[in-house]
Amino acid sequence: MDYSAHSALPMIKCQDLKIHYGDHVAVDSLCFEVGKGSVYGLIGPNGAGKTTTIKAIATLIEPTYGEILVDGIPVLHQPEEARRIIGYMPDFPPVYDDLRIEEFCDLFAHAYGLDRNARAKKVEECLRLTDLMDKRRALCKTLSRGMKQRALLAKTLVHEPSVLLLDEPAANLDPKARIDLRNLLRRLASSGKTVLVSSHVLSELEDLCDAIGIMRKGNMALSGSLEEVSASAAASRVIRIELVESFPNLQNLLRESSSVSKVDSRDERIFEITHSGDRSEAASLLTTLTGAGAKVCEFHLKQSKVEDLFLEIESEDSSEDANR
Ligand code: ADP
Repeated sequence: MDYSAHSALPMIKCQDLKIHYGDHVAVDSLCFEVGKGSVYGLIGPNGAGKTTTIKAIATLIEPTYGEILVDGIPVLHQPEEARRIIGYMPDFPPVYDDLRIEEFCDLFAHAYGLDRNARAKKVEECLRLTDLMDKRRALCKTLSRGMKQRALLAKTLVHEPSVLLLDEPAANLDPKARIDLRNLLRRLASSGKTVLVSSHVLSELEDLCDAIGIMRKGNMALSGSLEEVSASAAASRVIRIELVESFPNLQNLLRESSSVSKVDSRDERIFEITHSGDRSEAASLLTTLTGAGAKVCEFHLKQSKVEDLFLEIESEDSSEDANR
């Protein structure tokens, strides 16, 4: 789906969001938008602030500062209106073990004020959509993890929300259940719903979303369409350098270069550097190295992928935690 085609109509907009738990800053100056009809993946390591952000959009936490608009509705000032169009699925969602799936969905339809006839119709529609009609009389406690997730999604859909907030819906699903969930979310998005879905595992979301935001320490490290995020990731490339023989001064030469931000060495001959310059700056760096006497037999620009970027953010987090 072309995210840019929808970007003029943000369905979710977080503006300068700050959320504190006492002294702890969980979300800090967070800004992002989710286009109407898109599937937006909120990705970040554990503790990045994803759940807190989603709960605030779902009107369950009051932000310390900032504004959240859902379809133009300021959720802080008009939470009731916002809740009518939001379907929220928490990360550890409860199912009522001793209810049948259709009773479980009916309960929520009742809570949303649907009358008996409307409920029966809506519950059936949601069970069909989530491919649970055959299982509608099964007790919730007998369901597999994947089916439970689908039952939860079915109950989240009974009031016809136009915005779905799904916190880690793919966690602990087997590959088949993950594919089913992906197909279902795509179907929902193509029927016009806007989906915000979170995960701490990039691969769970990469082929599901048309836009992603990478969160780190309460802030958005990067946000945009998959193409935009990939392009930003590519702005910082990894260069692999291999020497014929070790050259002790190489590390110093690399660190002196303003376009080199990180140097990893596998042994005395093989290095991987993070380079933020363009191709001609990379060529100048090579000239500097060979000019100083390093015998370079390989100098290879590796295209950085979103995954590399995500791993970089994760490893920065864990090395900072280790230094604390
Ligand atoms: P994520 O969903 O990305 O794993 P969370 O939003 O759950 O991150 O948490 C963000 C930060 O806020 C973490 O440091 C977490 O420990 C902290 N946090 C979350 N909930 C609470 C709470 N109820 N009280 C205090 N701190 C919290």
